[in-house]
Amino acid sequence: MATNRDYYEILGVSKSATPDEIKRAYRKLAMEHHPDKHGGDDAKFKEIGEAYETLKDDQKRAGYDQFGQAGASGNPFGGGAGGQQYTGGFGGAEGFDFSDILNQFMGGSGTGAQQRRPTRGRDLEVSVSIDFLEAIFGVQRDITLTLDEPCEHCHGNGAEPGKGTKQCPTCKGAGQVTRVQQTILGGIRQAVICPTCDGAGQIPVEVCTVCKGAGVMRRQKTTSIKIPAGIDDGMAVRITGAGAAIKNGKARGDLYVRVRVKSDKRFNRVDQTISSEAAVTMAAAALGTEIDVATVDGNVTVKIPAGTQSGKIFKLSGRGVPGVGGRSRGDHLVTVTVEIPTKLSARQKELLEAFAAEQDSHKKGFFKR
Ligand SMILES: [Zn+2]
Ligand SMILES: [Zn+2]
Repeated sequence: MATNRDYYEILGVSKSATPDEIKRAYRKLAMEHHPDKHGGDDAKFKEIGEAYETLKDDQKRAGYDQFGQAGASGNPFGGGAGGQQYTGGFGGAEGFDFSDILNQFMGGSGTGAQQRRPTRGRDLEVSVSIDFLEAIFGVQRDITLTLDEPCEHCHGNGAEPGKGTKQCPTCKGAGQVTRVQQTILGGIRQAVICPTCDGAGQIPVEVCTVCKGAGVMRRQKTTSIKIPAGIDDGMAVRITGAGAAIKNGKARGDLYVRVRVKSDKRFNRVDQTISSEAAVTMAAAALGTEIDVATVDGNVTVKIPAGTQSGKIFKLSGRGVPGVGGRSRGDHLVTVTVEIPTKLSARQKELLEAFAAEQDSHKKGFFKR
């Protein structure tokens, strides 16, 4: 019974997991769910086994990556209903380009299997949390990661230095082997990378005694990351070549530092614009005043002209967020709220009544209580 769950998901590994990581994940899960064990689970154990059978085999894995379970089982068009549907649609289906599927299956030029083999290490992603103001002005952070570093003993090729190499017994030095894939058109011969020598045609006489042939060693490494001014929540900084190394890799992966920006209760930010609120009294709004407004640069004095209405927005040009990459700074918008007093002293009441009387008499010529 084939499972419908994703094989990578079953083993809890990423799509770019190395054969070693897959093996480790399989062993751990197989131990955990072994039916002989107390709390074991036969169905789960079988599922894990099925996933591993496919992913441990480079050819099956490549097929699975491209076509799912049908690809892994050697029939790219699937069995049962899938196959019938295809056969039925072959003559009349609109816009169905058979050569597309064939090309995809053949890996385009026929060297697809070779292209699929990773030649650079995996990309890594970490997240860091920074303060609101650090995002505005930029900050330096040290990030410690555990990652695959090239083995110093063999310089990443997995061979014991000075022992030389010998011809690969699997491919006889050709670097690739031919496999026959059964399709509804009959067998298709496909050249794939030799799984024993990874296409090199040669294998070490003796594997590296330090990394046991892996070419890489898991190590802790601290990288200093410069987070640029103006970065926003959710953005990532890419550090080229700071990701994982890989055996015989042409390049290392990249490191993505995903930035989480903490909020600040004084400020709101949308892209490069910062906004905040400031309250003024009713009398000050009517008469005009100056207020101190907190900005990311510290307090700034803002002139509130006489007759300012509640909700009026004042723009502090250039007090916003710098553009990543040196673009000019955005603005800070202050929304002024005019506070209506909720409690009045007897004297204030008297004055306001006199004020109201004055206002009313202007309008109507007299004051009626
Ligand atoms: Zn080594
Ligand atoms: Zn070989």
